[in-house]
Amino acid sequence: MYKNPLDTAIEYLTGVGPARADLLKKELNIFTFRDLLYHFPFRYVDKTKFIKIQNIDPETDTVLLRGYLRRLETVGEGRSKRLSATLRDETGSIELVWFQQVIFLEKKLLVNSEYIVYGRITEFNGRFSISHPEMELITPENTERATTLDPVYSSTEKLNQRGLDAKGQRKAVKTLLERLKPEDVGEILPPYILEHYNMLGRWDGLQKIHFPQNDYELQRAENRLKFEELFLLQMRLLQLKNRRKDTVRGFQFLKIGDIFNNFYHKYLPFELTGAQKRVLKEIRRDLGAGFQMNRLVQGDVGSGKTIVAFISMLMALDNGFQACLMAPTEILAQQHYDSIAKLCEPLGVKVGFLTGSVKGKKRNSLLEDLLLGRIQILIGTHALIEDTVAFKHLGLAVIDEQHRFGVQQRASLWRKSSPFPPHILVMTATPIPRTLAMTLYGDLDVSVIDELPPGRKPIKTVHRNENHRLRVIGFMKEEIAKGRQVYIVYPLIEENEKLSWQSLMEGYEAISRDFPTPQYQISIVHGQMRGQEKDYEMQRFLSRETQIMVATTVIEVGVNVPNASVMIIENAERFGLSQLHQLRGRVGRGAEQSYCILMTSFKLTADGKERIKTMCETTDGFKIAEVDLRLRGPGDIEGTMQSGILNLQIADLAKDQKILEVARRTATDILTQDKNLELPQHENLRNYLDSQTRTEKVWNRIS
Ligand code: ADP
Ligand code: MG
Repeated sequence: MYKNPLDTAIEYLTGVGPARADLLKKELNIFTFRDLLYHFPFRYVDKTKFIKIQNIDPETDTVLLRGYLRRLETVGEGRSKRLSATLRDETGSIELVWFQQVIFLEKKLLVNSEYIVYGRITEFNGRFSISHPEMELITPENTERATTLDPVYSSTEKLNQRGLDAKGQRKAVKTLLERLKPEDVGEILPPYILEHYNMLGRWDGLQKIHFPQNDYELQRAENRLKFEELFLLQMRLLQLKNRRKDTVRGFQFLKIGDIFNNFYHKYLPFELTGAQKRVLKEIRRDLGAGFQMNRLVQGDVGSGKTIVAFISMLMALDNGFQACLMAPTEILAQQHYDSIAKLCEPLGVKVGFLTGSVKGKKRNSLLEDLLLGRIQILIGTHALIEDTVAFKHLGLAVIDEQHRFGVQQRASLWRKSSPFPPHILVMTATPIPRTLAMTLYGDLDVSVIDELPPGRKPIKTVHRNENHRLRVIGFMKEEIAKGRQVYIVYPLIEENEKLSWQSLMEGYEAISRDFPTPQYQISIVHGQMRGQEKDYEMQRFLSRETQIMVATTVIEVGVNVPNASVMIIENAERFGLSQLHQLRGRVGRGAEQSYCILMTSFKLTADGKERIKTMCETTDGFKIAEVDLRLRGPGDIEGTMQSGILNLQIADLAKDQKILEVARRTATDILTQDKNLELPQHENLRNYLDSQTRTEKVWNRIS
């Protein structure tokens, strides 16, 4: 059988051997030639930019010098024995020192020859020197070489000790590249794409990413490899989606019937926004198409996702099916139930409510009604997906705040219906920039509600510090006197649960002193409480028994207390932007003017300042998400989404959005033109993708 040389174990590379191979595996995850080939430099030393010795100052970090070695001698004895040298250029001189390999270097270095010297400047007694600089002799043959970009690879202490520092790794990569042939690497992009974008071939790209001659070459190599990475990702996502559309047939809802019409024309409580109408149209098209819908509805907090979900459910009902809605917490489920039951009343539609706390007789009769189809809409928590819950004919499952649910839980909804799985509609308020959504949800269809219902008063957001504490307390009292309620949120200190608990409790005590009983009542909710206790406290706040809710971020998702008009976020600098945005979304839900007060300490990092500033300037979730992506990179958002599928080597979803868009477009075009990649120009691509699918089990985990 043909074995690709890239699969060769790394220890067989000349100069590596078993011991270093072990280290490479442990420290850098490099097991094969391929891994080393894809171990890209994280920066480059620009050997085209020399500085003059006289320009070195205490601020200088690393330098690239070019000069003559004028003195070379060993000094000291025994352990303090070292090699000392002087490098001189036309502006001055500097000392070079080595404490290791003294004898070897003394023989190797040539006095009165010209060198390129690279290293870190240290200052001692006002004099500059360089310890262990990299030395490169300039000869007629390598004057060319002297003006290139040198790759620098990430290294560790252990690797350094074993001669696998940046320089050692550079050598290993060089050896590898000399040993490989272009056909080992092959080409997977169709030739016409390469031509169209004037892109480097795969082999050239890999060569030049390690050893570029100049910035231009480096940029082309980066573009090629980033494009390849993002393009392959998009291809796989789109293929997944296509395959599902081919194989996973779905119920076809062709009818728009009485229930829908009755509601839409008689009982719709408000005019839908343009965005809501557009999204409903998209959903309706899916439901009528004969394949299973898997659609994500993204809409900022308060954009009105619930009504969209509800109307979609009515479409299922009109076609003789049931629908369900699953929410991540009891409180949210209860809220959905209350509002949906109210909407259903005049329609004569039967709604059921199921959570873990519905037990005994009540539960049994509910389950029976469900099985017999007497309940048309079921609302609840993850209790819905338990095996004992069986529908007569489930046609549509709505999942609210989907990132709170695991993929497993989502998948188990699929089994609730036959012969086809129910249509799936997931709703999220986590704003994600479009390009990122394209990747994270690349296999779902995405709808966006990008418009808020009219007449909302924008929340006023201000930044305050400890000096304003008294005035903030005074302001809270004024609002409470008007009958409003207040949230105070403390950050979760992840590294230290005890500390975050302490800060919450100290805060709670301080607030209890400022707002004494019986005049004021305070609720408290935090992560250590059991679900029922939390719900109890939330309920007290909801029913206005308490005026102040002190909490950690557990209240972040979806909770709707329209009477709450003030959100105070303590140590706001500790929160990420999307979290701040979610928290702020808890107020501004009623008719009253609402406020968000961001309390911070005096000293803020540059990032912290920008986050606070962004919050004060805009309430647009998508704008905030863009800034967030820029500040944090996509890592955290990926984490939230539990995707873990993005193991990007070189592309950066925040910085490479343009490339991503081109990659997405290219992938879409190719699949539209040649769905199964049967054309000869797509053969390599197909083979490559097939081989990847076989090796990457992880792709099966995406629902
Ligand atoms: P979210 O998208 O955060 O889930 P909701 O669906 O809870 O938002 O809607 C927030 C509030 O806005 C609700 O009180 C809802 O009744 C109201 N609402 C939704 N759509 C409209 C609309 N088109 N016009 C006026 N009010 C609306
Ligand atoms: Mg909601």
